[in-house]
Amino acid sequence: MTARKIPVASADLSGNEEKYVVDAIRSSWVSSTGPYIARFERDFAKLCAARTTVGVCNGTVALHLALLALDVRPGDEVLVPSLTFIATANACRYVGAEPVFVDVDPQTWCIDPTKIEAAVTPRTRGIIPVHLYGHPADMDAICHLAGVHGLWVVEDAAEAHLARYKGRVTGSLAPLATFSFYGNKIFTSGEGGALTLSDPQLELRIRTLRGQGMDPQRRYYFPVTGYNFRMTNVQAAMLCAQLERHEAILAQRKRVFAAYQERLAAVAGIGLQPRAPWAEPAPWLFSIVVDAKAYGRSRDELATLLAEDGIETRPFFVPLHRLPPFREASRARGEDLPETDTLAERGLNLPTYNTLGQGDIDTIADRIRAHARGQHG
Ligand SMILES: *Cc1c(COP(=O)(O)O)cnc(C)c1O
Repeated sequence: MTARKIPVASADLSGNEEKYVVDAIRSSWVSSTGPYIARFERDFAKLCAARTTVGVCNGTVALHLALLALDVRPGDEVLVPSLTFIATANACRYVGAEPVFVDVDPQTWCIDPTKIEAAVTPRTRGIIPVHLYGHPADMDAICHLAGVHGLWVVEDAAEAHLARYKGRVTGSLAPLATFSFYGNKIFTSGEGGALTLSDPQLELRIRTLRGQGMDPQRRYYFPVTGYNFRMTNVQAAMLCAQLERHEAILAQRKRVFAAYQERLAAVAGIGLQPRAPWAEPAPWLFSIVVDAKAYGRSRDELATLLAEDGIETRPFFVPLHRLPPFREASRARGEDLPETDTLAERGLNLPTYNTLGQGDIDTIADRIRAHARGQHG
């Protein structure tokens, strides 16, 4: 239909991104030393109300590093939602731990605190709530349960940059949080990641493990086995420019969200992402839930029709407990995650990016309305 294809995501690099990247290149500081790294770490910590930020090469590595720093070991169990990007669970496996899946709350789409206790065993060490599609998890309830059972909590805030929970910003809601700056995330460096935290001991462990295990006081002396998980000055240059414009970037995305909400709220069979009263979600990917009976078509049928219209969409994550690396272990534990399964089958992310115009949003909403079969009999 539309001659031009509408992608599901597109990075806005229209500020000082190019200038700072060129500056990094001209200065020849292109590896993991350079002024943009310190500046990014300072700026991001400030935005997230954390004492410090540690930049790393991507969000998956940020999760891996968090689990290494918390000394998670083979045989340990970590509670995670099944409705998330696979990196959340893969990171557990990297340290030999087992991700144990907990169902999500239909009111937040995030891990359901009321279902956490039933999943705790003597091997459970921690919980990784994921702020899914920008909506913060119910962190007070989660942190309370963690305290009762002696568990750590790591926020996976990859999809929820600067979201707020009861007025507090993501990245400061647990002792440790991880972020991704992949190309489709709200702020991006192409590939990139970070941890935010406030405990100095933990910071020392994380910085040591990130840089090959080198003793910060003694160059080329390595007291532990570490990793090369560093961010480059070029990545950090791009992020500094993104963070300079954080308000404008968020405002544009919020405009897209509001336009979709207005146009889709009354379409029979199309549900919108719920919002808890205490949540100020980050506008990541606008999400709808297709009720096949009321809409007259399944989520997959709608996605196919929109693709034919030149509109790219993204189905919700395939639940991790259904995927080959995890499904047998999940079955053996008898996991039953009905809310996760329902959302995964019905959910669809719509194009969300800063240069998406009102006309494009009108077109997308019109096509969604036009493809409905419910009302027309
Ligand atoms: C994007 C994402 C990650 C991983 O990020 P990468 O930077 O791509 O490694 C982790 N968790 C969630 C929930 C994500 O959406």
